Amino acid sequence: MKFKFSATNPSLFHANPEDWQSWQWQMRSSLKTQKDFAKYIHLTPEEELGFATDFSVRCTPYYLSLAIDKGEQDPIRKIILPTSHETLPGLQEMLDPLGEKKNNPAPRVIHRYPDRALLLVTDTCSVYCRYCTRKHFTATDQAFIKSSQYDQALSYFKSQKSIREVILSGGDPLTLGDEQLERVLSDLTSIDHIELIRIGTRMPVVCPMRITDELVLKLKKYHPVFIMTHFNHPREVTLESSQALLKFVDHGFPVFNQMVLLSGVNNHPAIVQALSRRLLSLRTKPYYMFQCDPSFGSDHLRTSVADSLEIQRELWGRLSGLAMPNLSLDIPSGGGKAGLTPNFETSRVVSADGVETRKFTGWDGVSSEYVSPPSSQIAKPIDAEVYFEEWDQLKF
Ligand code: SF4
Repeated sequence: MKFKFSATNPSLFHANPEDWQSWQWQMRSSLKTQKDFAKYIHLTPEEELGFATDFSVRCTPYYLSLAIDKGEQDPIRKIILPTSHETLPGLQEMLDPLGEKKNNPAPRVIHRYPDRALLLVTDTCSVYCRYCTRKHFTATDQAFIKSSQYDQALSYFKSQKSIREVILSGGDPLTLGDEQLERVLSDLTSIDHIELIRIGTRMPVVCPMRITDELVLKLKKYHPVFIMTHFNHPREVTLESSQALLKFVDHGFPVFNQMVLLSGVNNHPAIVQALSRRLLSLRTKPYYMFQCDPSFGSDHLRTSVADSLEIQRELWGRLSGLAMPNLSLDIPSGGGKAGLTPNFETSRVVSADGVETRKFTGWDGVSSEYVSPPSSQIAKPIDAEVYFEEWDQLKF
């Protein structure tokens, strides 16, 4: 099946087409208050109470237009609008579920793994997703990093020779202007040991007009630059967002998508496959499918690990490996990522002479054994030593 994506309707906001296509207009015209949203959506009593939340509300007209006239249970509406559930105590709720404050060696730097580190360039986003995992930082009116702190962050990156990748995050880095972004990329890529930049952004989903020709031409000078998008639902893939993705890939940016499984939004294998196949057709690799972190006020959007594993098991039988996202959970309080995989192994036996036999039952119920050779028969490659120095650099 070839996919056709529909365009959104500027007339809902009485915007002229030129304004609608301007990312600055979209950001300037963002809806932030109960009164703003009530002009376009009949808010439920739970949603009205939700505006008492501590975590800011914000959305571009473009993104809200995807949820207008779609009803109270609309998946995109659940991402945008707070409800009274957000203000109630949760089963497990943390302001910093990834334990980032423990791994914060310089201003705006999060360094948990030896070979990569995050730089939180801004706290601003084009939407404040109700399940955001970084509520300790996002939407806290800090904007672009102050000059003295930026210098400290750069010095840290220079001093840490194990860092190969810097991930620009926030907030959303693409809410910054072209010049600010280019300066950051230029500074980081001039550090000898930094091989690659990733940009984590939800702008192709929420404000796709941000992906201008000028932007991609500026950023491509610093290749390899990887774009990590955050689509959660197939309805987010519109004509505008698909053009934004293609603009990136046509200019040589590998694009990967990270989604979060959310209750009542996308927690069904049919929805995940629909999103994955649409993205793949746009040369965007479905990369991660995250278990929602227990961030403060997001209990009503979380799903169970058992349900997520079942979704993954069902996908396994129908989706190509290219379209399959990796199910993963961030261990609360900063334990890093734990890959979640349905268990296909049904038995394991080791014979007296060291031969191990494992039995697997696949998604279609077919079972068979894999017999491993004993370790005495397994050779090591002769040239691993050539790469030892490189390998040893990837540690703290
Ligand atoms: S775009 Fe990302 S950082 Fe911003 S609120 Fe959504 S999840 Fe959080």
